[in-house]
Amino acid sequence: MLKRIDLRGSRWDPRDLLPRAQLDVSEAVERIRPVVEAVHAHGFRAIAEATRTFDGVELSRLRVPADEIAAAAGELDPQVRAALLESIARARKVHADQRRADVTTQVVPGGTVTERWVPVGRVGLYVPGGLAMYPSTVVMNVVPAQIAGVGALVVASPPQKENGGLPDARVLAACALLGVDEVYAVGGAQAVAMLGYGSAGRDGAAEADGHDQADQCAPVDVITGPGNIWVTAAKRLLRGHVGIDAEAGPTEIAVLADDTADPVHVAADLISQAEHDPLAASILVTDAPALADAVDAELVRQVPATKHEARIREALTGAQSGVVLVDDLEQGLQVVDAYAAEHLEIQTRDARSWAMRVRNAGAVFVGPWSPVSLGDYAAGSNHVLPTGGCARHSSGLSVQSFLRGIHVVEYDQDALRDVAPHVVTLAGVEDLPAHGQAVTARFTP
Ligand code: NAD
Repeated sequence: MLKRIDLRGSRWDPRDLLPRAQLDVSEAVERIRPVVEAVHAHGFRAIAEATRTFDGVELSRLRVPADEIAAAAGELDPQVRAALLESIARARKVHADQRRADVTTQVVPGGTVTERWVPVGRVGLYVPGGLAMYPSTVVMNVVPAQIAGVGALVVASPPQKENGGLPDARVLAACALLGVDEVYAVGGAQAVAMLGYGSAGRDGAAEADGHDQADQCAPVDVITGPGNIWVTAAKRLLRGHVGIDAEAGPTEIAVLADDTADPVHVAADLISQAEHDPLAASILVTDAPALADAVDAELVRQVPATKHEARIREALTGAQSGVVLVDDLEQGLQVVDAYAAEHLEIQTRDARSWAMRVRNAGAVFVGPWSPVSLGDYAAGSNHVLPTGGCARHSSGLSVQSFLRGIHVVEYDQDALRDVAPHVVTLAGVEDLPAHGQAVTARFTP
C-alpha cells in the first residue's frame, strides 16, 4: 500500500528523495488573504459571510453563551469526563515543570541583568473542528497557557451544523472543565483573523452594522493551535501582527524500526495518524525489508476495518507517505533527522539510545509501549507540534510559548564608569557617536 523509496547503497539527498505533503501554504495564503482582510475591515459581517461559505452555518452571534458551555459539561458522558480529567491532570504535571524562574546575573559588582519571564496578556487558542473534533486540543492549548499565567484565554472552534451552530459539545465541555468561558463559534482563516484583529472591524464597522458590542471578540496578543491548511495560511499571514506558535498543519508520523518491531503495531500507528486528514503523512524508515513487507501486508489487512477508511487510504497512498529502505539504522537516523517529523516513533533494539541521538522531531516516542496516540491524549506531553519540517527550527507548544523574557538592566555609577570606554569604542566603530555621548555625558562635569 505504501510506496517504496530505496536508499540502500546510495548516496542520497534527503531534500530530493523524501516524501513530503504537496502542501502549498503560500498559495493558500493568497487564497485566504481576502477573507483575512475583509475580517480586518468589516469584523462580524465578514466573519459571518466566510462562515456561511466555508461552514454552511448562519451565525447570529460569535460568542458561545455561558449556559451553553455549562450545559455541554453537564451532559458530558462520565467516561469522557474521566478521560479528559486524566489528560488534564497529566498535562498539568508535565507543563508545571516547564515553568521558568526569573534569573539575575551579577555581571560585575554593581551591574546586574535580570531575565524576567512575563506571561502574554491575551491569547487566542484555535481548536480544529472540520474532519475530526478535538477536545484534547483544548487541553493541550489551555494547560500550558494557564500554567504560564496568561491573563485572558479565548478559544475559537468551528461551528457545527449538528450542534445548532455551536462548536462541538465535547470541545465546549473541555473548555468548562478547564475554566475557560470565552469561546467563539468561528473556525478556519476567519477565526484566526478574528483573533488577530478582533471582530469590531476597522472604524467600528461591526457596530455600524448593528452587531452587539457584548458579542465582540477583542484582539489577542498570541494565537496558538493546530489546524488545516487554511488555518495555517492565516496564521502565517498574521505572524508579526500577533505572536504565532509553530505551524502545526496536517499531522505526520515517522517510524524508525528494525527487525524487532512488531508489524501489527507499526501498521496500526501509521494508520492512527493517517486518520486525521487525507493530507496526513505516514512514513516507515527501516533497514529490514521483511518488516516493510509485513507492515504493508498488515496495512492491507487493517485499513478496510477502519472507520475512516477513505481518508486513511488517501493519506497512506498519497505522495506524502511511504516506506524508506535504508542500509542500517545510522542511515535511518539521518533520514528521520532530515525529515524532521512532527511525531517520531523509535521501534528498534536499544530504542532509548537511538531516541537520545535524534536532533529533529516534534516529539519522540520510544519503544513498543509509547505509541503516538498515547501522546495525542494522555502521556502528559503536548500534542500541538511543528509539522512540515518546522521541527528543524521550532518546538511544540509549551509554557514557554506563552512567556516573554524581559531583560532588566541595572548598573550603578561605578559599574557604568568602568565599562564606559568600551561602549564609546564600539559606538565609534559603528559610527554612532551619540551612543557613546549618552554614556560620557554622565561623567562630564
Ligand atoms: P480545522 O478547524 O482546521 O478547519 C475547518 C475550517 O476550515 C472550517 O471551519 C472552515 O471554515 C475552513 N474551511 C474549510 N474549507 C475551506 C476552504 N475551501 N477555504 C477556506 N476555508 C475552508 O479542522 P480540520 O479541517 O479537521 O483540520 C484539522 C487539522 O489539524 C488536521 O490536518 C489535523 O491533522 C491537524 N492537527 C494537527 C495537530 C498538530 O499538533 N500538528 C493536532 C491536531 C490536529
